[in-house]
Amino acid sequence: MSQVTVVGLGPMGSKMAETFLAAGHEVAVWNRTASKAEPLLAKGARRANTAADGDLLVVSQISYQAMYDSLGDARLDGKVVVNLSSDTPGELRRAAEWVAGRGGTLITGGIMVPPPAIGLPMAYTFYSGPEDVVDQHRGTLEALSKVTYVGPDQGLAMMFYQAQLLIFWSSLTSHMHAMAMLRTAGVSPLEFAPFAQESFTQLGGDGPMGFVKSLAEEFAAGVYPGELNSLHMQAVGIGHAVEALAEAGVETTVPEALKRLFERADAEGRGHEGLGTVIESIRKP
Ligand code: NDP
Repeated sequence: MSQVTVVGLGPMGSKMAETFLAAGHEVAVWNRTASKAEPLLAKGARRANTAADGDLLVVSQISYQAMYDSLGDARLDGKVVVNLSSDTPGELRRAAEWVAGRGGTLITGGIMVPPPAIGLPMAYTFYSGPEDVVDQHRGTLEALSKVTYVGPDQGLAMMFYQAQLLIFWSSLTSHMHAMAMLRTAGVSPLEFAPFAQESFTQLGGDGPMGFVKSLAEEFAAGVYPGELNSLHMQAVGIGHAVEALAEAGVETTVPEALKRLFERADAEGRGHEGLGTVIESIRKP
């Protein structure tokens, strides 16, 4: 079993420390607000003297600035810092240099589950950085989740993480618009929920509604067939959806932005192509 120091004891870091302990690892914990360590000390963790106290530091904080603030001027010679916090890919690349400048190695990660799912079979984390270092600590990190290595560029784990969050936030916000609109006609959110669940299942599946996969195939090929459902038809259709929201007296900002995007692709002369052609507009803002 390994020794691991968890830096940052918000909901995520606390559950990570608990999960490492349950897996039999020797765990030290550090948090800016020291009192948050108490429940973990009661479970067998040791209080780290500083944020840099340990050879394997697993960091989970609000942003990378918190890591700079926590580690301060500490030397990191021979240490591996695995940071699972959110930030931008650019910041992660700068952080890799910052850690290297102090003698350590940075592995970046984007963990794709909320606290209750840490350690469950469904959990996975995108990791990037030197592959041999990830492999060296794979066994320890697997206590938290599956280790999904995406490449040596330290910014990449965050790009995968944010790609998933874009899907998460935008699809769930659309679900909120849908429920809010139906509610104005007296429809219970619970009556609609099974239909929304069916949409999510179908969109992610392999059948004729499996647009997640077919859009990827179309983008890879650079061909967006629109004979059966043209973008122009959908640009008009989303206009109706925006009007429906406005008629119902609910918020339209996000659907209006989608409408503008569709209309731009249509105005650029690609209305006869399929919905996938919108990605070409997204690529050229
Ligand atoms: P927060 O994002 O709220 O982070 C809280 C932690 O950051 C605390 O330990 C806090 O210390 C520390 N912190 C904030 N600012 C500083 C600073 N300047 N110096 C030192 N420490 C600082 O909590 P979460 O646990 O929810 O999230 C941690 C990370 O995990 C985030 O980047 C988040 O995006 C990511 N994440 C969260 C998920 C979730 O469901 N919660 C899911 C997947 C990823 P203090 O206690 O002293 O305030």
